Amino acid sequence: MSSTENQTASNFIRHIITKDISDNKNNGKVITRFPPEPNGYLHIGHAKSICLNFGMAAEYNGDCNLRFDDTNPEKESIEFMQSIERDVNWLGFKWANKHHASDYFEQLYTYAVQLIKSGDAYVDSLSAEQIREYRGSLTEPGKESPDRSRTVEDNLALFAGMRNGDYADGQFVLRAKIDMASPNINMRDPALYRIRRVHHQRTGDTWCVYPMYDFTHCISDAIENITHSLCTLEFEAHRPLYNWVLDKLQTPSHPQQIEFARLQLEYTIVSKRKLAQLVNENHVNGWDDPRMPTIAGMRRAGYTPTAIRDFCERIGITKKDSWIEMAVLENCIREDLNDNAPRAMAVLEPLRLVIENYPAEQVEILEVSTHPQKPELGTRKIPFSKVILIEQDDFAEIPPAKFKRLIAGGEVRLRSSYVIKCKEVIKNEAGDIVELRCSYDPDTLGKKPEGRKVKGVIHWVSEQQSLPAELRLYDRLFTVANPDSEDNFLDAINPNSLTTLTNCRVEASLISAQPSDRFQFERVGYFCVDSVDSTTEKPVFNRTVTLRDTWAK
Ligand code: ATP
Ligand code: MG
Repeated sequence: MSSTENQTASNFIRHIITKDISDNKNNGKVITRFPPEPNGYLHIGHAKSICLNFGMAAEYNGDCNLRFDDTNPEKESIEFMQSIERDVNWLGFKWANKHHASDYFEQLYTYAVQLIKSGDAYVDSLSAEQIREYRGSLTEPGKESPDRSRTVEDNLALFAGMRNGDYADGQFVLRAKIDMASPNINMRDPALYRIRRVHHQRTGDTWCVYPMYDFTHCISDAIENITHSLCTLEFEAHRPLYNWVLDKLQTPSHPQQIEFARLQLEYTIVSKRKLAQLVNENHVNGWDDPRMPTIAGMRRAGYTPTAIRDFCERIGITKKDSWIEMAVLENCIREDLNDNAPRAMAVLEPLRLVIENYPAEQVEILEVSTHPQKPELGTRKIPFSKVILIEQDDFAEIPPAKFKRLIAGGEVRLRSSYVIKCKEVIKNEAGDIVELRCSYDPDTLGKKPEGRKVKGVIHWVSEQQSLPAELRLYDRLFTVANPDSEDNFLDAINPNSLTTLTNCRVEASLISAQPSDRFQFERVGYFCVDSVDSTTEKPVFNRTVTLRDTWAK
């Protein structure tokens, strides 16, 4: 999709912002934020939110902040923060400011004291379990806590004691005093602060009370003068609470929360908690395993930022949950790599082929275009010699119907090279084919053969002038479209999601390939040099995507 199309494709959030600007709301400014919790690596669902938040800000000459929502220190870490910054940058976005919810701990505490003073919050001694019981259900109103009528003075003293470490974890919570009979359960006196003695990755042991998400998020937005607080649909029922807190506190600004549908992608999982489980229980090799739907995994697999942004644009922004087919994502990277990846040849499972009428010592250097549609990408040098390697699959003694490759006595073209003819099939004692003896037609380089048609074209490399390589073929991580609908999503893991081929040979020009370089291996697929395990002696390539959609029915 071109950039002009990007700008004109519309969504309901764009309509809201355009109207706000024309009404001169927020003095015509647009400030958004991307607010991840640093409890895991970012995934493709986050990419949707990143593209939306940064994209809207850019489109209206506004700003987008990166804000770490770091209020649950148990599961959060500096490693996760660093990975998030790297991934957002890699996707091509620059935040105006970087903030942490923990930067606001003191301000949040002051705001909580203010709510107590205005009679809008109280310290409750009910246990977590009692609070749940008192909360009621969708059909029954809740019950008020006996502590709800505590005096402001007592609440202030108790809350100060909570902060001071005078009480045990869980002994008290600070709750908003709203309405225990509200049809919206989020409004039945939600917790604002809890006591938790855990070390925080940034504030250390300064705090033993931590603010809850619903209290933190709206105030953080207001402190940063966010104009449009874009979040996913599950927060729709929290919006009244978001507004309640900001109305009660008369914060300097009052951002508008707008919800949109989460990305749900077939054959994968977009939940950091479950992705963490895959990593921690070694079902995959880390957060950046190329099978993971994380940005880090996709980068290692060979995805480009352009393809991911293109995907986010294509799926659009709506108010209604829907499932996106994996093919939509795969087509984005396929199109990008088809347009931009240099071509090369790789043989996955080599079969030796000796050209009997080719001089033994001769090596011819063929000059072949790097990209058939892009002469500006230049050429590469491919050595041709007496002994070459072809794909075992490209030869058949007993060919199936419509087999257009090499057969005994048949002819085929070697890609970008000569036409050869198979004269003899050599087998070992076990009856396996170990070598083909062929002849070549010297008059067929860049020319059609005289007086006959040769339909098939196969890829090849020179035996001597090629490099050993490992190719990793990835498939979907799950065997069902919605692994979350299974009793245990781990049961739906695809046992064949990784095939490692260790005897591959790649053309000599790849000697200079660098980690993360991407290629189309002709007839085989799109591949990327693995950024972790690849070495000069033994390059490792990850399959990014197949040439065609092999899952299509
Ligand atoms: P997870 O369940 O994977 O942890 P989350 O929503 O808890 O997801 P956060 O770190 O809180 O993760 O998310 C940061 C931002 O990214 C939020 O605004 C959230 O709404 C958005 N986001 C997360 N998952 C998706 C998704 N699948 N589609 C679109 N936006 C998402
Ligand atoms: Mg979360």
